[in-house]
Amino acid sequence: MADSELAEADLMHLRRCVELASEAVDAGDFPFGSVLVASDGRVLAEDRNRENSLGDATRHPEFELARWAAANMTATERAAATVYTSGEHCPMCSAAHAWVGLGRIVYASSSEQLMAWQAELGASPPPVRPLPVSQVAPGLLVSGPAPGLAEQVGRLHRRFHGLRGEGQRAPRG
Ligand code: ZN
Repeated sequence: MADSELAEADLMHLRRCVELASEAVDAGDFPFGSVLVASDGRVLAEDRNRENSLGDATRHPEFELARWAAANMTATERAAATVYTSGEHCPMCSAAHAWVGLGRIVYASSSEQLMAWQAELGASPPPVRPLPVSQVAPGLLVSGPAPGLAEQVGRLHRRFHGLRGEGQRAPRG
């Protein structure tokens, strides 16, 4: 989906996701951030990648938001909510999102773009194939990437890789 098809409210939430991804890099974590938004536009929860700071490679923000939604929202509320994220969900997070019955996903940058950046940076491949959300959870409404914001995410990956040096494990959405 093209940037022009994303509403200003969508872009506002995506910009917050990119801010969270930048905060993650500042903390030594992979550059990913996500926001959970209710059907009425209220921001319910947000998180960033915490893989390195918590020593747990499953601490992706999209997974945390899926768990938060399961604990704090009704099925109807989850289905009407949107998860915004700086990078398209990885298969683990796509599955968690679908299993808890969350609604639309909007991402700033795609898994395809992430793979291209990883190749450019010489990062080692992730242990899980970066399938698009549509291949893991085919029933979901998905929008993205957002040109301009996606380039900002790319710069965060370059900054993170520069801090970590060559040969580090590849980041995942
Ligand atoms: Zn993930």
